[in-house]
Amino acid sequence: MPNTPPDYCPDCGGRLEPVDPPAVQRCADCGEYEFFNPIPTARVAVLDSGGRSPPGSAAKPHDGDAVLLVKVDIPDRDLWGTPGGMVEAGEDPDVAGARELEEETTLVVDPADLVLFDARTFVKFEATHKTCLCYAVDAADVRGTPEADDEVAEARFWTPGELAATEDRLLTSWPEAYKDLQWWVDEGGAALDRDG
Ligand SMILES: [Zn+2]
Repeated sequence: MPNTPPDYCPDCGGRLEPVDPPAVQRCADCGEYEFFNPIPTARVAVLDSGGRSPPGSAAKPHDGDAVLLVKVDIPDRDLWGTPGGMVEAGEDPDVAGARELEEETTLVVDPADLVLFDARTFVKFEATHKTCLCYAVDAADVRGTPEADDEVAEARFWTPGELAATEDRLLTSWPEAYKDLQWWVDEGGAALDRDG
């Protein structure tokens, strides 16, 4: 779903003139300003250190640090990503992250337990401008068992080593850092450590 700067005024259909392109244009006919901005998205890294966790939490024994990933439903390509999606109008980003996590994996988390650890703007497929906010949460603070819901094909924890041993990869449309599962483990884990 690409987003591109508008060619014509949405109000009157008039011609748009550059003010501060591509972010700001102005209609030559009615004078309305038109703004072009990235789409805000939120992603949640559920981190499982493999330690002992309370009953009912999403944590399971792992040989090292694991991250919950969902398999994107693309035919013939096994691409995985952290659960997440677009922030809706009137919704705070952490609430969006918790909502998307539940929609994709059935796991339930309190938005207050999500720790923001990265935010960056990038262009997906050279067409869609996005601003992604990355949150981390300890699997012990997440309730339920990960199950793929309607929007994804599979949901499971991966360690970086497990993923590297397969042909599966993280989303190719992501910024370079995001394509490395170890980055999610290191950066998300450091944020949880700082949060205490
Ligand atoms: Zn106009």
